[in-house]
Amino acid sequence: MPSDIPLSSPDITEAEIKAVTNVMRSGRLSIGPRQVRFEEMIAERCDRFHGVAVSSGTAGLHLVLAALGIGPGDEVITTSFSFVASANCILYVGATPVFVDIDPVNLNMDPDKLEAAITPKTKAIIAVETFGNPANMDRIAAAAQRHELPLIEDACEALGGVYKGKPVGSFGRAAVFAFYPNKQITTGEGGMIVTDDDRLADLCRSMRNQGRAIGSQTSSEGWLAHERLGYNYRMSELAAAVGIAQMERLDEMLSRRREIACQYIERLMDYADLILPTVDSDTEMSWFVFVVRLTDQYTSKERDRIITGLRRHDVGCSNYFPPIHLQPFYRERFGFKQGDLPITEAIASRTLALPFFNRLDPTQIELVTLTLQVMLQREQLLRPSTGE
Ligand SMILES: *Cc1c(COP(=O)(O)O)cnc(C)c1O
Repeated sequence: MPSDIPLSSPDITEAEIKAVTNVMRSGRLSIGPRQVRFEEMIAERCDRFHGVAVSSGTAGLHLVLAALGIGPGDEVITTSFSFVASANCILYVGATPVFVDIDPVNLNMDPDKLEAAITPKTKAIIAVETFGNPANMDRIAAAAQRHELPLIEDACEALGGVYKGKPVGSFGRAAVFAFYPNKQITTGEGGMIVTDDDRLADLCRSMRNQGRAIGSQTSSEGWLAHERLGYNYRMSELAAAVGIAQMERLDEMLSRRREIACQYIERLMDYADLILPTVDSDTEMSWFVFVVRLTDQYTSKERDRIITGLRRHDVGCSNYFPPIHLQPFYRERFGFKQGDLPITEAIASRTLALPFFNRLDPTQIELVTLTLQVMLQREQLLRPSTGE
């Protein structure tokens, strides 16, 4: 058994490999039937009329904001405890990100703080379903509705999740999924916009394909008529074929991930220094990563040393997520500073993402948790004695 346990690893079987080979042999490598089929599968999974396949989750978020006409002078509300793409997409259209602090339990946008952040300039809300946890979507959607603001779900980490009986991706005006290799399903690179809004879907289809006229999306008449500013955000047939094969195994993969999360929780339950992820009883989490938090007595330096220690013992580990507002580019551009979002900062400084992928076996889980135990004990011994 190799000693190295990676943080994540894609689950690729012969089915995916065969699907790619078939596309190669078909001669149709882009804009074809697989993209359409993959769009239908994702849309169906989250009760939506339309799926629009794109080249990445980031591209999907960008297209939705652009298609909604959001631009310079507008504000878009999101959270800082996320992957940087949740906010970069706002900058792509020239708008300004406004970060709302998070709920300390489910780590998503705190609905109590959302209302206070809404101004006359607010033009949209991007609610991130962090680590695959769709908590609070009904209250966030209600606030969006009350203020007549489009709600966009950044569901890039949450495919297959369910909140109060409704699938992730079904809330708000549109939702976006991502298929990078560490996500629940992968296409190598890829993303998907889902929506019930015909006009929005049409605009996104046109804009992902160089702004070609709506209704001339395949290479025929009108192919060189560009009606609006567009991009090349298309998904290849190769990627879509992998996506179809992965979607056929989605439920199996989600239950495998749930099983691994349960095994971790069982093993870590008695570690007094850890705060384990919790899932509301009315929520089915789609496990994206397995992130534990250190209790308040740990500093972020100690957390960083634990990450280094785990890595030194061939256990993949990461600090998901350093707050977006404290990234060098955001500090410089917007003047954000430490203290702006106290809960986000306190939580982000004590997270540990542990290895999490479908083929993680019980021995590897034991290795991870025992190594973590040693690292925690090490930190305690390194602390200056309080004289008690
Ligand atoms: C992965 C991710 C994205 C971006 O997806 P890409 O396909 O990598 O562009 C956006 N938002 C969140 C929250 C993500 O985790």
